[in-house]
Amino acid sequence: MTGKAVIFEAMPTGDAQRIWDGGPDAYGNPPERAVSDGSGLPCRHCLQMIADGKPYLIIAYRPFASITPYAETGPVFLHADPCQRAESSGDLPQSLDSPSYLVRGYSDDQRIVYGTGSVVARVDVSRYAGALFANPAVAFVDVRSASNNCFQCRILADEQMDIIPGQAARTGIKPGAQISVPYRHKAQST
Ligand SMILES: [Zn+2]
Repeated sequence: MTGKAVIFEAMPTGDAQRIWDGGPDAYGNPPERAVSDGSGLPCRHCLQMIADGKPYLIIAYRPFASITPYAETGPVFLHADPCQRAESSGDLPQSLDSPSYLVRGYSDDQRIVYGTGSVVARVDVSRYAGALFANPAVAFVDVRSASNNCFQCRILADEQMDIIPGQAARTGIKPGAQISVPYRHKAQST
């Protein structure tokens, strides 16, 4: 299976900042406030779990630039106090700790690419998303809760990285890191 290296992207800071500045959510409502019980509530901006006792916000979020029939809107959690956005990274975010996720490809006009959606095991999310990018129709991949459908984060193809087995193609891969995904160099792709 060919595929690409992937980068996990958190909610853009602009989206979170609008809420922290007192703005309404995607449905025009003020955020609901709650206090974490530490039961594994992932903040979509820092991609960390909201610690027990910390206040958080529940908002309707639409991670799409335009309102098409495919622009799903749903509930997400956000730290009530501004947090640092998770750095874009090829590493699976800490907030993704459920056994499985719904992973689905979208076109550059933000529509579902049919046939790409699948519930995949947590450990296979990167590999599955990377494989979806072999389809040129897939511009980005969204990760959603397999049980609740809530948006978790976005995945982009890392166009800077071509990996051939056993070889890091750019710096940024830790020496000795396990690269178990069978990426091939573009020149070898068929
Ligand atoms: Zn946060």
